[in-house]
Amino acid sequence: MESKKEKAFCIAAVLIICACMLIERAGYRSREIKETESYGVDNNSSGTESKKTAFLTFDDGPSCLTAQYLDILKEEGAKATFFLIGQQIDDEMSKIIKREIDEGHEIGIHTYCHEANAIYATEDSCYQDVMKIKDQLERQFNYKAKLVRFPWGSANGYMSPFRTNIIDRIHKNGLEYQDWNVSAEDSVGTPTVDSILSNIRKDYKKYDEPVILMHDSGCNRKTLEALRSIIKELKADGYGFATLSERKNPCHFLE
Ligand SMILES: [Zn+2]
Repeated sequence: MESKKEKAFCIAAVLIICACMLIERAGYRSREIKETESYGVDNNSSGTESKKTAFLTFDDGPSCLTAQYLDILKEEGAKATFFLIGQQIDDEMSKIIKREIDEGHEIGIHTYCHEANAIYATEDSCYQDVMKIKDQLERQFNYKAKLVRFPWGSANGYMSPFRTNIIDRIHKNGLEYQDWNVSAEDSVGTPTVDSILSNIRKDYKKYDEPVILMHDSGCNRKTLEALRSIIKELKADGYGFATLSERKNPCHFLE
């Protein structure tokens, strides 16, 4: 009798445990469905809130002006990507690069020498130019660059005879290249603050992820003067800012 009672008790206990497990699973499942649904609803209903991110990029630094760019970026809470010229990195410029890294900006490879005839003489000279600054960044700053921006962009005529090969070689080194889809045109002719602003303004709205080409060489005082307005205008238009390797897809002129 005793053992029958015990048996019945055991069966009842097992049934209760199974029932509890089923209830819990059902609850979990409905939570899971709810979360998926609400995610979907958020996505659909927030068309106007879809994430827009501007990628501010500066080529040809570091220079005597770069620290002031960094001040503005800091004050405005905006992240940017700096594509560097290796041969400009002396002791003083090293401090600027350290600051760029410490303040959360991205460092990319532009070129070691920025002389078209030297860089693009052959496929090997182009590769070595990229590798020279890559190694320099690793050695001097313990910084592993992820991005390359070829001088004059990846569709330039100098590079066309060996374009595919050089891109394969940098990919094999874990590097990606990045062009741009908006240009401030701040390194051609005699740019003004107004021309820089209007060049950016006419194109950035076409993209949820504009990649904006600007420069921070010692000649680019007008870009520096325009920078705060550029950032404020993008912010007012709903754009956030991020470093370029965070972009969903790399920005390429040609595929
Ligand atoms: Zn350049």
